[in-house]
Formats: sequence, structure tokens, C-alpha cells
Amino acid sequence: MKRKILTMLREEKDYVSGQEICEKCVVSRTAVWKAIRSLKEEGYEIEAVTNRGYRLVSAPDVLTEAEIGSRRRDLWKDAPLAVYPVTDSTNIQASRMAESGAPEGTLVVADAQKSGKGRLGRHWETPSGVSLAMSFVLKPSYPPGKASMLTLIAALAGKRALKRLAGVDAQIKWPNDIVLNHKKICGILTEMEMTLESASIRQIIVGMGFNVQQNQFEAELADKATSLYLETGRKFSRAELACLVMEEFVEAYRIFEEKLDLSFLQDEYNSCLAGKGEKVRILSGQEEWTGTSLGISPQGALLVKDDQGEIQEILGGEVSVRGLYQYV
Ligand code: ATP
Repeated sequence: MKRKILTMLREEKDYVSGQEICEKCVVSRTAVWKAIRSLKEEGYEIEAVTNRGYRLVSAPDVLTEAEIGSRRRDLWKDAPLAVYPVTDSTNIQASRMAESGAPEGTLVVADAQKSGKGRLGRHWETPSGVSLAMSFVLKPSYPPGKASMLTLIAALAGKRALKRLAGVDAQIKWPNDIVLNHKKICGILTEMEMTLESASIRQIIVGMGFNVQQNQFEAELADKATSLYLETGRKFSRAELACLVMEEFVEAYRIFEEKLDLSFLQDEYNSCLAGKGEKVRILSGQEEWTGTSLGISPQGALLVKDDQGEIQEILGGEVSVRGLYQYV
């Protein structure tokens, strides 16, 4: 009911009458009054004027089902939404939900993660009150070979969402990080589960972790991590960021499902690709080599001209790309 009330208050810039809320939510006046009181306790500023009704003045930066749900505008907005104050990992939760039948577009959000995951078994820091951890479920019918492109679509969606929310021009560090001023503001982890019988995709979980309100990072992350707050000096709604990411992802994903390659976003991606046209280091297991980053191919591979002048196509997976002397 809180989600419904907030949706109504957000849709109507002016006052919404108590009567209207009762009718839409099919509840009593007292129930509406109680829900409004509880929202106020959570930090919502709601103005109540006799004979006119309620008006939303401001909302707190909380990650709740009501706050996120009432801001959703994307095509998947009616799919299941699970929001946790703290969880092990939103990727793990989303995977569990998908296993037990949750449909495509199911979204899991958490304020904090105890075992946030990076690539190659690495850890992702998700402290409470400042981070956004979100994972969503895909249940595609295309072949598994196409799945590595999803990380790139998610990265571009995250970059576009940051621009819309905060006006910042982030860059993408291929394949799975979004960076601002050479430091990581978002990490992406795409995990695919296959059916053994038919070697087809059973489900894919796309997870994204954003640093939003942090005002500092612990020593070992300080030189490679940043937050929206550290870069802009302003606080932004994490719920709104989650909703913008969903809007941007779904829009791009619809096109991808038709084309099954990235030619439709290749130029935009390459224009914000960190290190493009510069020398980069490619780390693959124990091996390391250098070359010039040329941009992505329509299949999402990174094209790098090696020092012998040969163009190498780097596929995702076990490979990391670094600046010549630093992280980006
Ligand atoms: P790669 O280039 O291979 O992606 P990476 O270091 O960026 O390397 P990821 O798996 O993308 O690796 O992310 C995990 C790493 O990110 C961790 O090992 C840690 O160094 C760093 N990290 C962890 N939490 C955060 C955070 N909240 N913000 C920024 N960086 C983080």
C-alpha cells in the first residue's frame, strides 16, 4: 500500500485527496492515515492540507520496496521486486529467485551486502547507507555465446543513468567497470547458468554495484574507487539511480534482443571507453602484454593493436585491462 500511495503522490505534482487514495487502495481512511504516518516516520516529508489532501514534498534516500517501486517507469516495472536492508549478495538472491520461477525482469536491491562479488572470485565492498547493489534476472532464448555482451549493455545503461541523475560523464573500463575521473564508481558482474541437457541458457543474473554517498574509502581502495558524492559534492537518490538503470537497460536490451549484436551502441560505447586510442596493458593469468586500445567490435570484444601491429580481439572472461601505469 505504501508503494501505491507514493506512486500516486509522485504522479500527481499537486495534492491527492485522502478519498482518492482510499478508493485506489481499497482501504479505509484510517489505514491511509496510518500509512502516511509511517512514511513520515521513515523520513518522507508529506504535507497534509484540509480539503485538499496530501502532497509529497521530499523523500529520504532509502532503499525500500515502496521507494523503488513507486519510482519505476520501465517495461519491467511490474515484475517482482525484492529489497533487503542487508543480504549476502544480490546476485545470489536473484539467482535463487530465478531458480524458483521468478520471471525475466525480477529485480533484487540491497542497501548492504555481506559477500558482494566481483569478477574472478573477488570481493565487492557494499557498506550500508551509501551503496546501491542491484541484480536483475534475464531468461533469454538466444545462445550462450551472446551473453558476454550483456555486461557491456549494463555498463552503458549505468553510464547513461549516471548522466541523467547527476549530469556526470562517466567512462567505461571494458568490460565491467564504470569509472569517473579514473576511479571506479560501479562494478558489474554477469553470471550465467546453463541447462545441462540442452546446453542452453537457463538464466542470467546481471549485478551492478554503485558507490553513491561514500565520503571516503578504506586505504586499499582509496586510489581506485570513488563515489558520486566524492565526485560531485552532492547526494543523490539511490532508488532513483536504480530506476534509471532499469529504464536504460531495458531500452537497450530490447534492441539487442532483435539484433543480437552491439552495432547499435558501438559508437556511443567507444566514445566513452576509457583508454581508447591509448596504450593499455592486457593481463591474462600470468601473461601480460601491451598494445593500443582501438575500441569494441560489434560482438563486444575489445580490439587491441599489439606492438607487432596485429589487431587482437579480446573476449571477456579471464582478462583484465589496465592503464599503462595505473588502474585506468
Ligand atoms: P578487472 O579489471 O579485472 O575488472 P577489478 O579489480 O576492477 O579488475 P572486479 O572484479 O571488477 O576487479 O572488482 C573487484 C575489485 O574491485 C576488488 O578486488 C577491489 O579491488 C575493488 N572493489 C571492491 N569494492 C569496491 C567498491 N565498492 N568500489 C570500487 N572498487 C571496489
